[in-house]
Amino acid sequence: MGNLLKGISTFHGAVFPNDSALYQKLAKEGQRPQALMISCADSRVMPETITQSGPGELFVCRNAGNIVPPFSTANGGVSSAIEYAVVALGVRDIIVCGHSDCGAMKGLCHPEILTPMPNVAAWLKHSHAAYSIVCEAYPADLSGPDRVRAVAMENIIVQLDHLRTHPSVAAKLATNEIVLHGWFFDIETGEVQVYDGAVSAFIKVKEDQPLPAAVTGRGRPRITHQTANRAGGVMS
Ligand SMILES: [Zn+2]
Repeated sequence: MGNLLKGISTFHGAVFPNDSALYQKLAKEGQRPQALMISCADSRVMPETITQSGPGELFVCRNAGNIVPPFSTANGGVSSAIEYAVVALGVRDIIVCGHSDCGAMKGLCHPEILTPMPNVAAWLKHSHAAYSIVCEAYPADLSGPDRVRAVAMENIIVQLDHLRTHPSVAAKLATNEIVLHGWFFDIETGEVQVYDGAVSAFIKVKEDQPLPAAVTGRGRPRITHQTANRAGGVMS
């Protein structure tokens, strides 16, 4: 803990003075982050570092496995963070960020290591679909780190699907006011691959290229007014 104490002192004495005007502005005007990032709690995955974001720029929610429980499950910190970011802060982008060598994904692949961690095992049920996809749809000889990597990438897609079950997100998607992103951070190379929903693949992106989206509201089939009335008639 000595290093952390030294860090606090260094931040306050040497770093903060250079950014004090920014912090004072944020303290006075409040936060207006440009995006919500839901990432793994892994200490090697640092959202502000990999995006080079400063104070006030990124609203971050971290947990084991970058999981988004479906809305219908019990209320919790992730659901509250999503609702607050979308409704109160008005973020227009949500990023689910997974990563290589993820301990949570290893737990999915090797459930025997979860035996002494019943809470982690229960939490990871929200990722079982990703494991099933890899078991059924990927080559049977996929093993080791490649298998964990595949589960981690599929888990990002599963969690994006869960995001759409949250009413605040679904409503903003319907009005094209929010975009969902899936990112995969490779710890060893420092590279971020981005999921492109148009081609259903993780791709490498460059700064001068448009950022692909995983999910947008565009192209969503709409129920016509006439159909809605007809549906209402059936209900009555
Ligand atoms: Zn992880």
